[in-house]
Amino acid sequence: MYLKSIELSGFKSFGKKTELVFQSRISSIVGPNGSGKSNVAEAFRFVLGEQSMKSMRSKKGEDLIWGGSPGLARANRAGVKVTFDNFTRLLDIDFKEVVVERIVYRDGQNEYLLNGTVVRLKDVIRLLAGANIGGSGYQIISQGEADRILNASPKERREMVEDALGLKLYQHKKAESERKLEETGVNIDKTKSLRREIAPHLNFLRTQVEKIEKAREMKDELAAKLNDYLARENAWITQEDARLLEEAHAREAESKTLSHRLTELRAVAGAGKHGTSKSSELHEKLQAREARLVEVRREGEDMQRELGRAEGALEANTVTVEQIVAVPHVRQFARELDSTISDIEHNDDISTVRTALSHIRSRIKSFVEGLSGAAPVTSHEAKQQVEELTVALVKKKHEQEVLTGEIDTMRKEIARIREASFAAERDVIEHEATLREAQGKLNNVNAARTGIKSLRERFEEEVREGVALAGVALTGWERGEIPQGALSEDRSEQEKRRKQIERLKIKIEESGLGNGDAVVKEFSQTKERDEFLARELIDLETSASKLKDIITELEKTIDEKFKDGLKHINEALKGFFVKLFGGGEAKLTIEQPKRRGPREELDDEDEDFVGEEEELYAGLSISVSLPRKKVKGLEVLSGGERALTSIALIFSMSQVNPPPFLVLDETDAALDEANSKRYADMIKELGSKSQLIVITHNRATMAAAGELYGVTMSQDGVSKLLSVKLEEAERVAK
Ligand code: ATP
Repeated sequence: MYLKSIELSGFKSFGKKTELVFQSRISSIVGPNGSGKSNVAEAFRFVLGEQSMKSMRSKKGEDLIWGGSPGLARANRAGVKVTFDNFTRLLDIDFKEVVVERIVYRDGQNEYLLNGTVVRLKDVIRLLAGANIGGSGYQIISQGEADRILNASPKERREMVEDALGLKLYQHKKAESERKLEETGVNIDKTKSLRREIAPHLNFLRTQVEKIEKAREMKDELAAKLNDYLARENAWITQEDARLLEEAHAREAESKTLSHRLTELRAVAGAGKHGTSKSSELHEKLQAREARLVEVRREGEDMQRELGRAEGALEANTVTVEQIVAVPHVRQFARELDSTISDIEHNDDISTVRTALSHIRSRIKSFVEGLSGAAPVTSHEAKQQVEELTVALVKKKHEQEVLTGEIDTMRKEIARIREASFAAERDVIEHEATLREAQGKLNNVNAARTGIKSLRERFEEEVREGVALAGVALTGWERGEIPQGALSEDRSEQEKRRKQIERLKIKIEESGLGNGDAVVKEFSQTKERDEFLARELIDLETSASKLKDIITELEKTIDEKFKDGLKHINEALKGFFVKLFGGGEAKLTIEQPKRRGPREELDDEDEDFVGEEEELYAGLSISVSLPRKKVKGLEVLSGGERALTSIALIFSMSQVNPPPFLVLDETDAALDEANSKRYADMIKELGSKSQLIVITHNRATMAAAGELYGVTMSQDGVSKLLSVKLEEAERVAK
């Protein structure tokens, strides 16, 4: 006993809440036509999740709701609640009692509840399928539909058999797995497409990051090279600066000394050239001496002549004019003039020349005067004159010698002074050259110092640029350690380093990637995303493969269980058939598998149609051979024979895999009395395996039931239920 009760409220003709409590394995519902019995059977369909309105004799959900009558207002919702005893865990849910409820509202909305909690339809279907309460409705045989299984297509028939064999659960699992597989396939495609979308960007970012890393390496290299270069440059500049400063001081001092000395030398040289007081004094004295010498000579010569005349007078005691102007005397006079002229002829000194000329004039004058004034003297006078003249002449000669000596000394002194001046002038020239040279060197040193200053400025600019470009603090060069050879190597080495650094800077600038942190971050995020997608893809592919395995396994299980179940159904069918017909045979056979596509539903006649999304499907055909009748096939059966065959089939299916309950709505309607009895026997037999709710007008069937419910319809169109006894039942049924 699994089915405990069913409660209808506002469902079809059950305008008021009505409950049927099942206490017997076979319950029979009886009542007059139109009282609402079939509505109870449909209430079962409804609550178990039936989606076909047609199978509940309605067009839309609203038709299932109590429509109202003059006595009772229409309902806004129809609800059916079925209660299962779940003590044996018939339903795979941890409750001793399970209440499944379905409500439909006038707007067509449906609601499903499991023990009062709203759930989805598929949850209900899955739960019931697990208890072999399927959705194909084979266990609820509606009125006039007993031979539905005979009328069904091979495919539908197979579905009914599968349902009866409890394969729905596997089918659901398979469908669920297929749905998941499809979803997984969609997700695989989505994931692949996402990865494809990401790939170009990721590749772009990867190359960017590679470039950035290269640029960073270059920056590190630059920092190292710069540190070395700057340390060398700093050391060299500092050293050069100090050296040049020292040299500048030295050169300045040297120039100063030289200028000083030059001033002195110029003074000396100037003195020689333009004459000092001493030299001009000397010149004046010299001129005076020279003039005096000329005079002394002339006087001496005059005395000599006087002496000659005196000596002549002494000799002759009488001297005439003719004697005085004797030829030798004239000649003497001429020689004297000639000698004086020769003396000055090559003399450059104008004052000497002038003195000589004035002497010549006075000589000529005295010669002329001598010619006219001479008078004869006595011998005494002449002798005295000779003696006096001789003494005077000696004195003159002495004076002449003294003067000549002085003149010579003065001339030598003047020459010495002139020579000293020339020497000083040479020194001035030499010193000027040395000073120029020294100043040139000082200028060079100052120019070199300016160069060093520019180098220092360039160095500081290089530090700033380096920091900006290397992106790191360049501190290495500041430590003060002087790299080996920095102070001694050739400057061209440092220039080579500078060029290398410049090339590196250009490369870094050309890379144009800045510090690239944002790109690196984006790359790592995109890579993470891609890796996540790759893992996701592996997971999805693994689960797709698992799902395929599950589906294959399920198909295998379904196939095995189906074939095995079909074998048992056919065996049971054989027995029921003999029981009902007294012989003959009916058999279900698996058809040759064929491909059927979606258009099959539209065009049943075209059996060979091969459509899109086709699948291999083998339906179930049924063969019947009645005893004592040659003709075979379903088409030739009478209404009763069809009903009997259907009943045999339904019962066989129920026998092999008994459902928890069966609802049979006037399945026995077409049976004659004899067959009704056989039917009643079979009901009893079936009742031992499944709980039965049988709607019937048949007494034999009623008699087989353990309890009876009568359905009546009151004047206001509301169906009512009451428990009745067999005797009453017959009355109620009419
Ligand atoms: P029979 O013995 O002839 O098969 P029955 O007892 O099975 O009859 P049902 O077919 O169950 O009778 O009931 C049909 C009755 O239910 C009709 O009178 C119909 O008017 C009533 N009915 C169906 N739907 C509704 C509804 N939505 N509201 C009110 N009454 C309804």
